[in-house]
Amino acid sequence: MIDKELLEVLACPVCKEPVELTADGKGLKCVKCDRIYPIRDGIPIMLEEEAYFEGEEGSSSEAEETG
Ligand SMILES: [Zn+2]
Repeated sequence: MIDKELLEVLACPVCKEPVELTADGKGLKCVKCDRIYPIRDGIPIMLEEEAYFEGEEGSSSEAEETG
């Protein structure tokens, strides 16, 4: 779990806006650009290249059909 005080000092590296904990508590979502920064071992990864958008995570593209 992320401390509320820590949350207050964190900001999106892209737009410098505050982030908020996602509903499942597994990420921090920027209030402006909706990027979600993952939390690994309790440490928020505030990197643009690590961020993802909702519905993007863990998407395996095996559903490709040839026909
Ligand atoms: Zn942002």
